[in-house]
Amino acid sequence: MRTQIVAGNWKMNCNLDESLHLLNELKLKDFSKAEVEVVIAPTFTNLYAVHQNLNDSSIKISSQNINENEEGAYTGEISPDMLKSVGVEYVIIGHSERRAIYNESDELLAKKATAALKHDLKIMFCIGEMLDQRKADKHFDVVKDQLEKGLFHLSASEMENVVIAYEPVWAIGTGETASPEQAQEIHEHIRNVLAKKYNQNIADQTSILYGGSVKPNNAKEIFAKKDVDGGLIGGASLDANSFAEIVMSF
Ligand code: PEP
Repeated sequence: MRTQIVAGNWKMNCNLDESLHLLNELKLKDFSKAEVEVVIAPTFTNLYAVHQNLNDSSIKISSQNINENEEGAYTGEISPDMLKSVGVEYVIIGHSERRAIYNESDELLAKKATAALKHDLKIMFCIGEMLDQRKADKHFDVVKDQLEKGLFHLSASEMENVVIAYEPVWAIGTGETASPEQAQEIHEHIRNVLAKKYNQNIADQTSILYGGSVKPNNAKEIFAKKDVDGGLIGGASLDANSFAEIVMSF
């Protein structure tokens, strides 16, 4: 069975105190009833403290980005080994904000994926089309292209450590969500693309998350679709009650 995952992308929100406060609120929630892996992605400066304060919580930690190099003269950047050394388990790669605001190319994202896996970090790899691409009915081709360029240099065994997050850019932070049917049809397409490139087994075991304005009132319907294995949550992950409700939607 595929791992079901709900991940909270805190983006550039929460200073140290606020991060620990949010973590403490989440630790009070009983996630044990939901058969879901719960992941949170605080900003770089708070990863270590959040990890240190997990105690016996099963929550896992993700970074929001990674540098593709091992070490050296890359001012302001964070290496895979640095992330690993503070307890990070997952890295988000290719978030649409990184692609759009910081011009991260498919080629760069492919290098980041390789670097993360080399250090035993699991990847949440984000793909998704823009509004004009959806309107032009190009969304199936766009996500296929992003997969091919960003991930398909990886071997089948490396793919075991990759989670895909389908996030239509027009639904991120906009309050607009893909309908459960729209999510299902593109998740199924993504799984078919994986099967064609690798094999059915890899396709069947890869978790594919949906992201884009998931809230407590729409999570259940989206997560009920057979190829949706959870969610990458932005805004609603900053409120412990909302995030917990989304987790418990499974
Ligand atoms: C995201 O940024 O990954 C995201 C899905 O954001 P939101 O839930 O706020 O749309």
